[in-house]
Formats: sequence, structure tokens, C-alpha cells
Amino acid sequence: MPHSSLDRETKILEYLQKNGSASIQDLVDVLGVSNMTVHRDLNKLEAAGRVQKKHGGVVLANRVQPTAVAETCDMCGKPVSERTLFLVRLENGEQKRACCSHCGLMIQSRESKAWQSMAVDFLHGHMVSANQAYYLMGSEVSICCVPSILSFGSLQDAEKFQKGFGGKLVDMQEALQHLREMMHMHTHGM
Ligand SMILES: [Zn+2]
Ligand SMILES: [Zn+2]
Repeated sequence: MPHSSLDRETKILEYLQKNGSASIQDLVDVLGVSNMTVHRDLNKLEAAGRVQKKHGGVVLANRVQPTAVAETCDMCGKPVSERTLFLVRLENGEQKRACCSHCGLMIQSRESKAWQSMAVDFLHGHMVSANQAYYLMGSEVSICCVPSILSFGSLQDAEKFQKGFGGKLVDMQEALQHLREMMHMHTHGM
């Protein structure tokens, strides 16, 4: 599998989210690339403050330091929390971050070059592919932006939440469609 380095970095972060830590050999196996490539990717991630290398392995750098410069949402400017983060990666490798799935999907819908997006599972807190996530729109749980959109990696979890808190359960395409309609009404209402 010839992955781009961005692709591999995403895989490494996903793996660490899931497993907590990894040995170099784990990553060699998972990515199907050489030891050296893994080291190079880890160095980059470490420089970016995303991971911490330990002897023979690596862990997520999440809890290390509250970033001095708060990261803010590329849509609304709110500080980004890891619990509700949404990432949109563009074809050119640029990465947009959003405070929550609401803003993330807004970015996604206005970026024609959006290539790969990740949302944080609201229940478990790990990253899931935004494409395959389920979105609960307009439920009573307001975490960030309105209407609130919660993202889930599993349909079961999403349905459980829907039972408790209402809202409409949609996939990414439907969620984008809703937001587009909303924006449309907005533009014409002014
Ligand atoms: Zn935002
Ligand atoms: Zn938000």
C-alpha cells in the first residue's frame, strides 16, 4: 500500500488513539513500510507536538501540554476542543480544523478540494472517518455551535443518543445537504 506521508500520519494517530501506544514494529506492520519511514513520520509528528517518542515506541502527546497558542476553529474562531474536534484535510495537504462537527461540515461543504475528514466520536472520543460517521443534528445536547451536530462512529451509539436527546440522524451527505440549505436560506434572507 503506497500511502502518502499525510496518509500514514493519520494512520499512526488513529492507531495511537485506539491503542494508546505503539512500538515501531507495530507501525511497520500496520503501515507496511520500512522502519526508516516510520521513524521519519514519527519525527515529523513529534516536531508538530502530536506524539512523544519513548524508547522503542511512541505515545500520543495529547496530555503533554495545553498548547500555548490555542488552536481556533477555521470557521467560527472558537477555541478547538479535542473532544469535539473535526478535521478537514484538503488535497494540497493543508488541514482545516473546526471546533465541532457543525463547523467541520460547514468547512467541508465550502471546500471543493476537501479530501479526507475526521470527526471525533462524541461518545468514545476517538477519531473516526467523517465520511462513515453518523450525525445527530439538532438534538438537545448542545456542545458547541447551533444547530448542534454530534458525530458517532457507530450507528448503534447514535441511535441510543437519538432516543435520549432527539434530533435527526443523518449521514455525512445528508448533513452537508442540510447545512447547504440553511446557508442558502441565510444568503437569500439578507
Ligand atoms: Zn467553529
Ligand atoms: Zn462549534
